[in-house]
Amino acid sequence: MFANLSDRLTASFKQLRGRGRLSEADIDATVSEIRRALLDADVALPVVRSFTANVRERAKSAEVSGALNPAQQIIKIVNAELVEILGGQARDLHMAKQPPTVVMLAGLQGAGKTTLAGKLGLWLREQGHTPLLVASDLQRPNAVTQLQVVGEQAGVAVWAPEPGNGVGDPVAVARSGVQHARDKLYSVVVVDTAGRLGIDAEMMQQAADIRDAVQPDETLFVLDAMIGQDAVTTANAFAEGVGFSGVVLTKLDGDARGGAALSVRGVTGKPVLFASVGEKLSDFERFHADRMASRILDMGDILTLIEQAERTFDAGQAEEMAAKLAGQGDFTLQDFLGQLNQLKKMGSMKKMLGMLPGMGQMREQLENFDEREVDRVEAIVHSMTPAERNDPKILNGSRRQRIARGSGTTVAEVNSLVERFEQAKTMMRQMARSGGKGVPGMGMM
Ligand code: GDP
Repeated sequence: MFANLSDRLTASFKQLRGRGRLSEADIDATVSEIRRALLDADVALPVVRSFTANVRERAKSAEVSGALNPAQQIIKIVNAELVEILGGQARDLHMAKQPPTVVMLAGLQGAGKTTLAGKLGLWLREQGHTPLLVASDLQRPNAVTQLQVVGEQAGVAVWAPEPGNGVGDPVAVARSGVQHARDKLYSVVVVDTAGRLGIDAEMMQQAADIRDAVQPDETLFVLDAMIGQDAVTTANAFAEGVGFSGVVLTKLDGDARGGAALSVRGVTGKPVLFASVGEKLSDFERFHADRMASRILDMGDILTLIEQAERTFDAGQAEEMAAKLAGQGDFTLQDFLGQLNQLKKMGSMKKMLGMLPGMGQMREQLENFDEREVDRVEAIVHSMTPAERNDPKILNGSRRQRIARGSGTTVAEVNSLVERFEQAKTMMRQMARSGGKGVPGMGMM
């Protein structure tokens, strides 16, 4: 999901590498690239327009941060806008004051309603509710049996049409199902309804009749994220024909371009409550705009990291460090120690490393990371004389032995630190050359 969009956006940010500050031309070029990437991802035009206008405006206004380089600044802005169009804060299901809460599902055939009913049932049960699934999809052959199967897998009761429950009449089944829930004290009723392959008047009328019969507390519009541009038309038709209070995006595990996910909130004004991410009942999650944005930008939780860096380093410090690095390479172990202390102020190293993108593949190494490593490094540097800190080249064998003894470490550890320091110095010089600004440890942006 979003892979293509993700690559395109990331590529547009990379072009800003090496810039000292954001020029108008940089902003224009980046915004055009973002615009093309969104359009190619099937995002609805009005959404693309307001998105790019907002990014442009924010980039041009004085939101300049001393701690961030141009690419990081743009990423921060794009991320904030993505979170915005994806719906901001996650919202919970509205629960009725007087149970049962009635949740009605509506959407096209194949959108994943029946599957979702099972997932929702399981999730609700895990949340301590006693759900009842109601089979009001009498259109599609097997829909009732399918709901019974998922209900059983989820360990949730299913109300199906039988003599007395309204055989053949979906409205009667829905009504009797809700009555049954009231009688038997089920706390939430999930009503599965029929869909068609395309939108048609009869289906809308049926859904509206069911709605009138059961007076749902929530009507969830179930939208297949793979349907691309049609998402907007479909969403609008359902908004008009039945009305809904929230959206569920399904098949987000697929390789859809992402347009539906990014457009639906902007087009309908209704929040996305849940995401369905696979065929298994457990492939279901609450929809979090911020995590989705982070996924799209392929950046782990780097925003938290950026915010922490901004909080920890003021612009002056960041610039002083950058100047030093960009200068004659007189970055010393003393500076290194200072930087280490700065990083320590930002919090646990392990946690910080874990927020870097691409860390998913390095989980094991991360697990083995020892926080005390930082203390050992500090002890080693403290055991050096100022001359040694300024010029590690003078560190001969006997000096290294003395330092190891003084810091309670081994010569091997001293050697390894000196070696890593030289590597870090090289890396930082490269980073400094690529823009001057930048948060230490964030050389990859
Ligand atoms: P309904 O007609 O709206 O009730 O749709 P169904 O629940 O029968 O789902 C249609 C098809 O989509 C089925 O084959 C489901 O297994 C599949 N499906 C539903 N949700 C997801 C999902 O999140 N991911 C994937 N990959 N498939 C899904």
